This record gives sequence, C-alpha cells and structure tokens, in this order.
Amino acid sequence: MTRVRRAVIIGAGIAGPACALALAGVGIEASVVEAHPGPADGVGAILTLAANGLEALRVLGVEDSVKAIAQAIDAVEMSDGAGHVFARHPGGGDLLSRDELARVLAERAEAAGIPVHYGRRFIGASQSATGVVATFDDGSTVEADLLVGADGIHSTVRTEIDPTAPGPVYEGVLGFGAATRAPTVAAEPRVMNFAFGRTFLGYWRLPDARIGWFASLPRAEQLSWREIREVPNDRWLAELRQAYAGHHPGAELMASTLPDDLIATGPTLRMPPVPHWYSDRMVLVGDAVHAPSSSSGQGAALALESALELARCLGDDPNRGAALAEYEAIRRPRVEAVAAAAEAANRVKAGGTGKAETP
Ligand SMILES: Cc1cc2nc3c(=O)[nH]c(=O)nc-3n(C[C@H](O)[C@H](O)[C@H](O)COP(=O)(O)OP(=O)(O)OC[C@H]3O[C@@H](n4cnc5c(N)ncnc54)[C@H](O)[C@@H]3O)c2cc1C
Repeated sequence: MTRVRRAVIIGAGIAGPACALALAGVGIEASVVEAHPGPADGVGAILTLAANGLEALRVLGVEDSVKAIAQAIDAVEMSDGAGHVFARHPGGGDLLSRDELARVLAERAEAAGIPVHYGRRFIGASQSATGVVATFDDGSTVEADLLVGADGIHSTVRTEIDPTAPGPVYEGVLGFGAATRAPTVAAEPRVMNFAFGRTFLGYWRLPDARIGWFASLPRAEQLSWREIREVPNDRWLAELRQAYAGHHPGAELMASTLPDDLIATGPTLRMPPVPHWYSDRMVLVGDAVHAPSSSSGQGAALALESALELARCLGDDPNRGAALAEYEAIRRPRVEAVAAAAEAANRVKAGGTGKAETP
C-alpha cells in the first residue's frame, strides 16, 4: 500500500503550514518542524499577495485573518521614472509582511491540531520501504510516510533528494526598502506604483500617510547577508541616492529616508528549474523548488497554490508515486512560466532592456 497517511513537513514559512492544513483536509496527518525558535522570525520583506494567493488562502480558511492585517491595493500604476504614467490597471492584491503571513498560517495550523515544532533544524533523512526518517540538529527524529521539503530557497531537502540539484541564482540587484515621510511625493491611497527608468522603484501610501518603497540597487557581485550588514546604512543610502539621482520619485524618496529606517531585503535570487521535484518518499513545495524572483510578486502565491495541489494529488490518488508525478506535471509548467517572466523584469531593474512583467 503506498497511500500517504502521515507526513512530516520541514519549514514553517508560507508553504509549510499551508501544506499541513491542506493535507489535514484530505485526511493526511501532518506535523511541521521549523528551524527558527518561534513563529515570528522577523525574516523577509513586505509582499503583495496577488489574487491567486488570496484564493488559496480562502480555500484554506485563512483569507479573513490575513485580510484583517493586510493593506488592500486596488490598482497598479506604472511610470517611466520621469513622472510620466504609461499604464494603470485594476487589481494588485493585499500587502503584508511575509513574517505576519507565516505567523497567521502557523497559528491556524496549530488551532487545527497540527503540531508545529520550533527550534529544530532538519539535517538529513533516510528512506526505506516502510517510511522516511527525518533527523534534526538536536538529535531528534520523526518518522512518516512522506517528507515534504517546505524549507525555502536554500532548501536542505532539495539536496537530500538530489545532491547535484542546482542552488539559487543571483540576479544582479540588491533589494532595499523603507517607510518615509515625503510630502512632495504624490501617491494615491490603495495604489501600488512602479516607476521604471534606469533603475526600478516600487512605492505606495501607508495608512499613516508615510510612503513605503522598495528599490533595486544594481550590483555585479553577489554579497552575502553578513557582507550586506557590515556596510553601514548611511553608505547604502548614499549608493541608493546616486543610483536614483534624477529618478522621479526615487530621488525624493531616497533624500527623505533616514539611514536608521533603511531595510536591506537581500540579494535578489531565483531558483532555476529543479530537475527532481521528488524522490520515493520526499517532495518539495514552495521556494524550495520554484522560487521566482521577487519581481514576479508571485513567490508566496505560487507556494500556496503548490501546497494545495500537492495535498489534492495525494488525497485523490492512493498510489504515492503516481500522486507525486501528477503534482509535478501540473505545477512545473506554471511555475516555470512565471519564473521566466520575472527574469525579463529583472533585466529592466538591473538597467537592461528586458520587457517588464506586471504583478
Ligand atoms: C524582497 C522580497 C520580496 C518578495 N515579494 C513577494 C511578493 O510581492 N509576492 C509574493 O507572493 N512573494 C514575494 N516574495 C517571495 C516570498 O517571500 C516567498 O516566495 C515565500 O516566502 C516562499 O515561502 P516558502 O514557505 O516556500 O519559503 P520561506 O518563506 O522561505 O519558508 C521556509 C521556512 O523553512 C525554514 N527552514 C529552512 N531550512 C530549514 C531546515 N533545515 N530545518 C527546518 N526549517 C528550515 C525557514 O526558517 C523558513 O521558516 C518576496 C521575497 C523577497 C525576498
């Protein structure tokens, strides 16, 4: 019998708790194990959850809880970096921090009786004819029928499945953001603004009338998080001011931002196509297997979609191998198309000529 009855999920970010909830919905008992010590890890940027992500949250029964802590965006406006608007379209999604979204999902999972264990880092697994045993850095183990790797873009499960699996690719820009008071910058409430030109900028009006912004700083060599943190904020701000000189409204926003308010969101990374999405008793979901660049505005939304689809396939087909094959066959074309579009958008942000994608 190859039907999955028990699953252990590695990672309590977005995909992990969502997958646990979806598996519970098809009668599969799941537990989640997370390396960070608690539910609010403070990691990650503000993200826009597009309509497909919100739909997935609705299916999981958490849409209302997320909307309660999100800022709704009704339209997206694009300009050329000189103040000329060239496109506007309705929609956009809901803005909230990755950290908060992860917290809401983990809380809902726990409320549904799904154990979420913190402070245990997955370090390896062994598969046999009867199950899979996950081992953690505190020496503990968990046995299950299936191990789900929802452990993000630097996934350990990915290399357990395939030691030669590719890792993330750096896309040539570092991300920064802040919230600032900039009375000269006009920004309609509930509208996300994308200003292109030599360098890319996203900005929107916060409920307290400040302007939130996120920017891309072209940088040929990839810096680690440690190297980024070693550079003082006032030096990063000086680089941003230079990069956005003459850019509207980038120049005004950089000028009004205080060094203490600047947040680095890290190198822009994406996952190239992953050859093996699953092995006999291990499977990947979310950024571990399909992280598009953040310019797609789709990473979390796709992670939620895949979590639902994996559970559906496992619930529908008692044959584990066939269910995992179906999951990959359905998801791979979709996520690779989104990733390809995001790559083109990044060439624009890095000062190239690619064609930009709308979120
Ligand atoms: C700057 C930026 C902007 C973004 N903007 C958007 C946006 O607008 N819209 C959007 O939809 N998405 C956006 N994203 C992408 C989104 O944040 C990710 O796609 C999403 O977080 C993926 O969820 P995940 O659960 O797969 O991975 P993660 O959220 O990375 O969660 C992985 C979890 O696994 C844990 N983990 C890792 N290794 C181990 C281990 N060995 N053992 C145990 N636990 C482990 C980690 O601690 C983490 O909690 C953005 C990302 C960035 C960086």
